[in-house]
Amino acid sequence: MGLFDRISKIFSSTSSVDKDGYWIFVRCDRCGEKLSSRINLNNDLSVEYEGENDQIYHCRKTIVGRTGCFQRIEVKLNFDKNRKIVDRQISGGWFLEADEYNLEEIKQG
Ligand SMILES: [Zn+2]
Repeated sequence: MGLFDRISKIFSSTSSVDKDGYWIFVRCDRCGEKLSSRINLNNDLSVEYEGENDQIYHCRKTIVGRTGCFQRIEVKLNFDKNRKIVDRQISGGWFLEADEYNLEEIKQG
């Protein structure tokens, strides 16, 4: 990665270029509030070894809304050894894609 590349990543704020972070976008299934949370791929994952060389990563995250609804949204994520998302589960809400999340933000705003 060249220096320019790195700089342009720092100045860009969109989630798709967040190299060390994985963003999750969810909607609370009680009140409908949209929430986002960032997983730090360097710090928040717990590693598990499968066989000699394969390692996979897990992350659990609990997201609580900000608007007085105390629904706890539990998210479980699995990543492969390259820290690419391979599986995700949620209870208490459902996943939104980043586009969906941003799109609705614009519509409501
Ligand atoms: Zn809620």
